Amino acid sequence: MRRKDREIVEPARIDEVIARCDCCRLGLVDAGRAYVVPMNFGYRREEGQGVFYFHCAREGRKLDVLRQNPEAAFELDTAHLLRTGERGCDCSFAFESVMGEGTVQFVEESTAKREALGVIMRHMTGRADWTLDEAMLRSVTVLRLGAREMTCKRHE
Ligand SMILES: Cc1cc2nc3c(=O)[nH]c(=O)nc-3n(C[C@H](O)[C@H](O)[C@H](O)COP(=O)(O)OP(=O)(O)OC[C@H]3O[C@@H](n4cnc5c(N)ncnc54)[C@H](O)[C@@H]3O)c2cc1C
Repeated sequence: MRRKDREIVEPARIDEVIARCDCCRLGLVDAGRAYVVPMNFGYRREEGQGVFYFHCAREGRKLDVLRQNPEAAFELDTAHLLRTGERGCDCSFAFESVMGEGTVQFVEESTAKREALGVIMRHMTGRADWTLDEAMLRSVTVLRLGAREMTCKRHE
């Protein structure tokens, strides 16, 4: 990162930024063309690695792409604040953001799928004790993205 003074490197602080985000943009490669898709998500550390979970319908472009190429870049941001001043060059935009890359896997097994949906629900609602029946479980696709690389930046 060019601006080292803005980089956040401690895993716990990175996780705090992610906890404040509600949308993760996945960057995929669709037969040589870039495809970006915004998704709600759940997040947790598994053996120290940052892991994102997503849920979606059973078909659609991103799933077609991921079946061909599971590699993904991701980006999340929060804490937006526009600061204005007298002159254009006095304006700045505060943010916190996380970027990285990893490989996406389809979570097929029922117990793992239920747990992943719990991680998503906890992230999005603050609760994980929602009822998830088997029919609902079968009707959704669950994706797991383990972050191979992850960087975090704060501009105050
Ligand atoms: C903040 C946010 C959170 C979201 N969270 C989720 C989530 O958790 N799970 C989920 O399944 N979906 C979520 N969505 C919707 C998601 O972005 C996609 O629209 C959806 O997942 C379908 O993706 P797909 O690749 O299957 O597209 P398809 O339905 O197959 O559509 C393909 C084409 O439709 C267009 N398109 C698709 N999505 C969008 C879009 N969002 N905006 C504009 N054009 C679009 C593009 O041109 C794309 O090439 C969210 C969207 C937003 C903005």
